[in-house]
Amino acid sequence: MAKPKLAIYWAASCGGCDIAILDIEAKILDVADFFDLVFWPVALDFKYDDIRRMDDKSITLTLFNGAIRNDENFEIARLLRQKSVVMCAFGSCATEGGIPALANLYDRESIIDYAFHKSPSVDNPDRIVPEPIYKVPEGTITIPAMWNTVRSLGQTIDIDYIIPGCPPQSDQIINVVEAVIDILSNGKPLPAKGTILGATDKSCCDECKRQRNIKKIKKFIRPFEKVLDPDLCLLEQGVVCMGPATRAGCGAKCVSAGVPCRGCYSLPTNIRDQGAKMASALASVIDSTDPAEINAIIETIPDPIGTFYRFSLAESMLRRVQI
Ligand code: SF4
Ligand code: SF4
Repeated sequence: MAKPKLAIYWAASCGGCDIAILDIEAKILDVADFFDLVFWPVALDFKYDDIRRMDDKSITLTLFNGAIRNDENFEIARLLRQKSVVMCAFGSCATEGGIPALANLYDRESIIDYAFHKSPSVDNPDRIVPEPIYKVPEGTITIPAMWNTVRSLGQTIDIDYIIPGCPPQSDQIINVVEAVIDILSNGKPLPAKGTILGATDKSCCDECKRQRNIKKIKKFIRPFEKVLDPDLCLLEQGVVCMGPATRAGCGAKCVSAGVPCRGCYSLPTNIRDQGAKMASALASVIDSTDPAEINAIIETIPDPIGTFYRFSLAESMLRRVQI
């Protein structure tokens, strides 16, 4: 019997999701044994035309990591959607824009202007910028056109499931792989469309072992500014920790190691906007009723957008800076 076909793709992302798949160690052999790996550009030399030649819906499962930042990302997302029975957004960038979507604080022209003219590492006296279409004596060269707005995968094509995380934790990837193999081997029904895989409905705080009891903050600090109590909630020590606004699933990895949660496991169920939820959580720990003092305390939050929306700006209610 023919094996189920698996595709793995990397769009606008750092490559960490691909590394996380390799980090499942010996389980990768089960994946290779069970699936016919038809596309994984980061690991094997496949071509886009290999996919174009396949029948529609002939790929059983596609794990798509990365945001949609340019025409190529979108073209391959649409192609893989057309060819796949199950399309899964894999990792923070595909799920909610991720780090690449922080570029939505600027527009395309100002990003290109900075990268090719103003960055201190650039030497570009002729002020050359990349052109999507460029004629040379030998013909026409095209490169993918960069979009003005970075989007999540689900904002551009229909997706079936989400595996959150930056990157998804290897133990959770193993759980998902084992569940998929079990479903396909034993004819079990697929989870409902839209299901979040490899995570739970709770928040990171629910997984965190740190104690919560003070809830009185006069100033927010960065983690290196004082020696932190290893057992006490980081937020209650004045360090902005995104635990209350983040889905559980990673096992509270960062907070267990003394580093605040940055929110990579996406929103818990029934939360519409990660930053708004976090603002609400902070309101409950600020120790003041005086508006001027509250404003002064809020002013001490380091890098509010980069903290509240580090991974979720594309999916947030803010979406992007309006030009
Ligand atoms: S805010 Fe952070 S440190 Fe505090 S309980 Fe939640 S996850 Fe743990
Ligand atoms: S603690 Fe937060 S930032 Fe760290 S892996 Fe878990 S969800 Fe991601």
